[in-house]
This record gives sequence, structure tokens and C-alpha cells, in this order.
Amino acid sequence: MNILFLGPPGSGKGTQSKMLQDKYGLVHLSTGDMFREAIGKKTEVGMKAKAFMDRGEYVPDGVVIDLIRDRLSQSDCKNGFILDGFPRTEPQAKALDGLLKSLHMELDSIFFFDLAKEILVARLSSRRTCRNCNRVVSAEQLKEIPTSETCSKKSGPCDFYQRTDDSAEVVTKRIEVYQNQTAPIIGFYEKSKSFLRVDGSVAPEAVFSVLEKALKKA
Ligand code: ADP
Repeated sequence: MNILFLGPPGSGKGTQSKMLQDKYGLVHLSTGDMFREAIGKKTEVGMKAKAFMDRGEYVPDGVVIDLIRDRLSQSDCKNGFILDGFPRTEPQAKALDGLLKSLHMELDSIFFFDLAKEILVARLSSRRTCRNCNRVVSAEQLKEIPTSETCSKKSGPCDFYQRTDDSAEVVTKRIEVYQNQTAPIIGFYEKSKSFLRVDGSVAPEAVFSVLEKALKKA
């Protein structure tokens, strides 16, 4: 099962990816997570991406496309993957098309997470992310997490922080960049019979059951 997630930042793509990954063992391909890992390791790709990300801008297409080409060609992706955060521009969408053809792969389901800008701003500004496992919670939920809960990647509790690009000023910029560069490519996928518009404003479990129902039919 190969899945594509489209939608603005903060629409729940990462949360749903994690839920699908846990339940169905699909490979989660998040370009944002890949870049953050590269930045943490101070690799060449990470160094190239950092300044763009901190400003809320997109990383240049060439860098992103090379990254995805390498990752999608790895053997674990043959068992099914979720593309989260790629493609974000028209050249990326075209590159993905060519890449899938050359790998003899197809997208089985395309989900577009739709929700109002005001909700996005509120969600992103209060979002906290674990440095190790990338789990996402709101500042509110953070207060409720028992100290006994452990991180899935490291021993001890999750290490939550606010991403630099989740600060109030950068969030507005990211939504603007999304509207200018990514919203236009939705039309490219909308015509596909595998496309489904999902209401992203409801609870994660409610979104998840919509996805599962659609995946059973795919
Ligand atoms: P979100 O979906 O919450 O906006 P991500 O973690 O997916 O966040 O991405 C964070 C940042 O990483 C983006 O704002 C951008 O700078 C960079 N990035 C991720 N994916 C891409 C992409 N496909 N093209 C260009 N830049 C990207």
C-alpha cells in the first residue's frame, strides 16, 4: 500500500503517518523529519536545508528530490510507504511521477487534509515535538503526560521542544509559502480516482477511521 499525504503544515499528516506506521508497518517518509535528522548529524544535506527551514521557506527542489530518490529506492519501501511532505512544488510532483514509474510503483491512495488557516496557526504555535521519536503533542497535552511514559526511540521520557519553525512569525510564513507553492499542485492529484479530501479539523482517531475505511476500498 503506497500512500500520499497532502495538506498544509499542521494538518495532521505526521500524526496520521505515525498511526498508520504503527498499525500497518508502512515506511513513513517525512522529508521534514529527514532534514531535521540530517541537521542533527550535521551532514551536507542538513547544512543546505537548515537556513531555509528556519525561515519557513522550502528547501530547493534539487536537494529534496535527490533525498527522496535515494530513500524511495531502498528495499524497505517495496512493502508500502507513506509520503508525508513531498511533493510540495510542481517540479517535485513531476519528479515523483517519473521516479515512481522508474521504480514500477504506484500510489494507491492520495489523501488531502483540509482545514481552516486559523486552526493551523493555533495548532502549529502550540505544537511540541520529541527530539528523538518525532512524536507531536500540544502544549496543553504536554501537561497531562505522565512522567512514567517512555520514548519509543530512547530510554526515559520523550524530550519535547518547540521547533524553530513553529514560532508564531515563522508559522505565518510557512502557511503563505504553502498557499503559493503547494496548494496549486492539489489540482494535479484531484483528478485521480485514488484522491480523497479529508476533514482534518476533527480528532486524530476520527481522521484515522476515515483513512482506514478508504484504504480498505483501495
Ligand atoms: P510541516 O508539515 O509541519 O510544515 P515538515 O516537518 O514537513 O513540517 O517540514 C518542515 C520544513 O522542512 C518545511 O517548512 C521546509 O523548509 C522543509 N521541507 C520539508 N519537505 C520539503 C519539501 N518537499 N520541499 C521543500 N522543503 C521541504
